[in-house]
Amino acid sequence: MWCAIAHYHELALKGRNRSILVRQLVNNLRRATSDLAVSSIDSLPGRIRLRFVDGTDIEQLWQILQHRISSVFGIANYGLALSSSIDPTGDLSRLKEALGPAVQSQQFQSFRVTTKRGDKRFPKTSMDVSREVGGYIQELTGSRVDLTNPDLTIHLELLFESAFASFAKMPGPGGLTLGMSGKTVCLLSGGIDSPVAAYRMMKRGCHQIFVHFHSHPFVSRASQEKAEDLATHLTQYQYHSVLYLVPFGDIQRQIVLSVPPPFRIVLYRRFMIRIAEQIARRHRAWALVTGDSLGQVASQVPDNLTVIEDAAQLPLLRPLIAMDKIEITAQAQSIGTYETSIIPDQDCCTLFMPAHPAIHPKIEAIRKMEATLDIETLVQQGVEGAQKREYSFP
Ligand code: ATP
Ligand code: MG
Repeated sequence: MWCAIAHYHELALKGRNRSILVRQLVNNLRRATSDLAVSSIDSLPGRIRLRFVDGTDIEQLWQILQHRISSVFGIANYGLALSSSIDPTGDLSRLKEALGPAVQSQQFQSFRVTTKRGDKRFPKTSMDVSREVGGYIQELTGSRVDLTNPDLTIHLELLFESAFASFAKMPGPGGLTLGMSGKTVCLLSGGIDSPVAAYRMMKRGCHQIFVHFHSHPFVSRASQEKAEDLATHLTQYQYHSVLYLVPFGDIQRQIVLSVPPPFRIVLYRRFMIRIAEQIARRHRAWALVTGDSLGQVASQVPDNLTVIEDAAQLPLLRPLIAMDKIEITAQAQSIGTYETSIIPDQDCCTLFMPAHPAIHPKIEAIRKMEATLDIETLVQQGVEGAQKREYSFP
């Protein structure tokens, strides 16, 4: 009978919490495949098994299942596998019987068998099993054994009373199980960088709450639509997302009225941070995430990063800080956010964008300028004006 077997990195899941984390990983796999013909997902020693609904067209299912499994963080590798019972006394005849027809349907001249025992109580060693099953396949197909460069590798995994055989192992996305690192609030601009920042944090196990600041009706709805598309797309990695669309135009106008142009950008950012933080507290998120990359633009030079961070009380995480634009762009392409990110829009910060932003602002000076504004009211205005959107996947 065919099933899928997924492996996780043992090291990532060590310690006392291991069973909780495996349960979470199983849960995530269930959510990722909830609309597919998967009948059960269970945790076996050292691996996770996905069983299929009887009578399913396996090839067709596998086309889509591969995509789903490869977006579940924490999976190290996975593959389609033939399962068979084995006899704890060491008799492998049922395994060989199941494997025979499957091997015969493969095209190959040379092969090898690699065996891993997940349960050391099984009386034969891995080497014994590989040799015995290899001998059987050689006899059955007339093909030769090649240990260094075979056309076909048959991976056997033996537990106590069951065995799995697969012909190919695909790399999973790696990373940590989503949910194991809590929640963070990602400031999602609609540009190239912040969706990549969100992805990298999800890959470290953090569920993202998205916050987008827009200047509608001073500009079109384009940036909001992009943020909505990006949040929708990123939901495939976390199954449910919340996006807040925060009206920011009025706040910017207030800032423009009392702050000289070179300092406006950092003030906008400081207000964004404060508003995002209120939302974070509401969701019990432990940190904020931005797509800043050191030196990329004026607002991301050291002194500006420092002054912006000063407005935050929660940790402010910048997962892209040491990546350059080429690396970030390549990752945006590989996760599928790039095409949306490059759609032209009028970002809220281009609206009241100064020609020459300051690059060495002093925090005391910035605080003094802010003192002329009613910070609390403006932040409250942003939080209360926010529109909440929710997305689910699949
Ligand atoms: P991105 O490609 O993510 O837009 P960027 O290179 O354009 O980044 P900035 O515009 O300086 O850089 O923004 C830096 C970070 O601040 C963004 O990555 C994002 O996290 C946050 N940010 C900027 N503008 C917005 C916005 N309108 N809504 C939400 N977050 C924003
Ligand atoms: Mg931007």
